[in-house]
Amino acid sequence: MTITGLDRYRQMVSVMDTPLTALKGVGPKVFARFEKKGLRTIGDALAFLPYRYEDRTTIKNLNELLPGEATTFMGKLKRLEVRGYRKRRVLEGLLVDERGALSLKWFRGNFDWLLKKYPVGEELIGYGTVGVFAGRKEVVHPELELVGEDYSASESDPVTPVYSEVEGVHQRQLRRIMRQAVESGARARVPLVPQEAQALSGLDPRWWEDPGRIWRELHFPSKGGEDLTKIVAGCRHVAVLEEFFLLQIALLLKKSGDEAVGGVKHSPTYKLVKALLSSLSYELTDAQRRVLGEIRADMERPSPMHRLLQGDVGSGKTLVALNSALLAIEGGYQAALMAPTEVLAEQHFKNISQLLTGLPVNVRLLTGSTTAVERESLLGELSTGAIDLIIGTHALIVEDVSFRRLGLIVVDEQHRFGVMQRVALAEKGRDGALPDTLVMTATPIPRSLSMTVYGDLDLSVIDEMPPGRRPVSTKIVKERGRGEVFQFVRQEVSKGRQAYVVCPLVEESEKVELKAAVETANHFSSEIFPDLSVGLLHGRMRGSDKAEALEAFSSGKTQVLVSTTVIEVGIDVPNATVMLVEHAERFGLSQLHQLRGRVGRGGNESWCFLLAGGSVSEDGWQRLRVMEETNDGFRISEEDLRIRGPGDMLGTRQSGLPDFQIGNILRDGPLLEVARGMAQAVLKADPPLSSPDHSVVKRVVEARWSSKLSLLYSG
Ligand code: ADP
Ligand code: MG
Repeated sequence: MTITGLDRYRQMVSVMDTPLTALKGVGPKVFARFEKKGLRTIGDALAFLPYRYEDRTTIKNLNELLPGEATTFMGKLKRLEVRGYRKRRVLEGLLVDERGALSLKWFRGNFDWLLKKYPVGEELIGYGTVGVFAGRKEVVHPELELVGEDYSASESDPVTPVYSEVEGVHQRQLRRIMRQAVESGARARVPLVPQEAQALSGLDPRWWEDPGRIWRELHFPSKGGEDLTKIVAGCRHVAVLEEFFLLQIALLLKKSGDEAVGGVKHSPTYKLVKALLSSLSYELTDAQRRVLGEIRADMERPSPMHRLLQGDVGSGKTLVALNSALLAIEGGYQAALMAPTEVLAEQHFKNISQLLTGLPVNVRLLTGSTTAVERESLLGELSTGAIDLIIGTHALIVEDVSFRRLGLIVVDEQHRFGVMQRVALAEKGRDGALPDTLVMTATPIPRSLSMTVYGDLDLSVIDEMPPGRRPVSTKIVKERGRGEVFQFVRQEVSKGRQAYVVCPLVEESEKVELKAAVETANHFSSEIFPDLSVGLLHGRMRGSDKAEALEAFSSGKTQVLVSTTVIEVGIDVPNATVMLVEHAERFGLSQLHQLRGRVGRGGNESWCFLLAGGSVSEDGWQRLRVMEETNDGFRISEEDLRIRGPGDMLGTRQSGLPDFQIGNILRDGPLLEVARGMAQAVLKADPPLSSPDHSVVKRVVEARWSSKLSLLYSG
């Protein structure tokens, strides 16, 4: 019997899934420490790449070190002692070699432990940035290791990997364990990118030749100096492309699978759409008109629509969504609009009901607050088709909700959901044809990200605001500026305007959160604005109380609304002109942008004050400054991605798509496009992946992604 690619793949999987306890030196205690770091299997260990390398081939003599340079150095510890400079105690050491000397300094840390760990007379290898103090070269808080023990075992290695800390496991022990993991992983590694796709990678074919080499070099590079950078970059390139390639295959398969099943082909009559548009007191913007055209063209086609509607806060996405729903309804289909929060669903319901006054469209609301009796009847009407448009929250996607002819799904503020939920709702309409899907987002999604999580979506952009909008003036306010800001709010209110005060969510427990919100509201109503009428809105309120609080604010009865972030999305009170954000440094950028979007809607000059209190991190200041500088949602989201990293920006975690193990969307964005091209070429030549050369790819994609994306291809 011959060993096939598939057999070897299975072997690799079983090696990757092997628990670390199979390695020498990993007993239950050590395993527990690895587990704390999220490392359980050999596969996990392989993806745990060194964060830097100690390149022994380039270690300079101490006299050659250059100030400002981050570098590895080596020498004998001649002195190590605690000195007191007035109140401050400093641990000082002196490292020497034949040519020179280097001071080492610690201003904090456990001095006794350091003194014990590094005996005078020992040879040390260290890493850090070289500085100069009083004419002498020094490194403050160096990373150090004893050479004797650590290097004797691997004296022949030119380069030593340095891993991020696994608590309780010494680097030396860690390296011994990693070496074993890497060896088994490297021996078992099979290439997952088919040859014809490798050729499209733009990489020298030699990088693809020896699959095991990738792991070996990434962990224990064979060469130092200039070669080190080249080797590590090349191997990483291969590993990242492989990861991206497989996801792109999965996404493309999902798309073609959906197309094979077929989608609803709408035949709008334009009756309802025309009636709606003629009832408006304003015209659609050119951008709204254009994206509606794109959506309509998709809807009239038999293949299912997967479209992302991107438009900054206040650009008028809701109206576009409603128009799209009417296109479906006119042709005899039902439409569903799903929002991330109850408050937003209720707002949509209210606004949309108002817009539809006089039109023969049956709109209903279904949320977690809907009573059991009402829900029962709603479900009945949905399944008979009596309801044309249903608006709701997650409550829409629970099992027993079924439609008669669901033709369009609109998901608002998609970044709160994940791909999974989108699929769950799409599944609802599957009586042969897939409903069209429109996903709305105010958070502009950088292209690199949209290609991963949203790789299967087409994009429509509303790049124009309705007329009369003004950018909101934004100011950071420190502790001492608060009084002035409160005075300003009072002034605006006396002109008949309204204000929001937003407090960060306290997440620990419902009780605490509730208390904090209530207390803040009390504080504002009794101490800061005793002369104004202050309302309260928070996430733990009963649905009817929420609706009441909102109503009081939109009717103008409440002048200042104190709330948690429930108002973040969708609330539309054009008379509000001031947004005050307490502890603004605790909010993320896109959240702040959303919050700010609540004001500046009525044509009046509007303001947003970001109150920063207590200790604010550098990241925190950076975010606030971005807000001061720009109103442009796209710039804000790019800054957000840069400051925060892509990790949880769009809820990719909850979406069921794992973070990449090696690839980094931020850093490796261009590789995503390369990978997409590679995947397209493979699928173009062999759509069902039935050739033996593709059996491994097919297997991997099935195993990793199929349940997550509910792939719909046969074979
Ligand atoms: P988004 O959901 O994109 O943040 P909304 O749909 O909530 O924005 O729209 C914000 C406000 O702008 C709403 O009050 C809406 O009625 C209004 N609006 C929408 N389109 C237009 C338009 N073409 N001209 C004037 N006002 C509009
Ligand atoms: Mg909206």
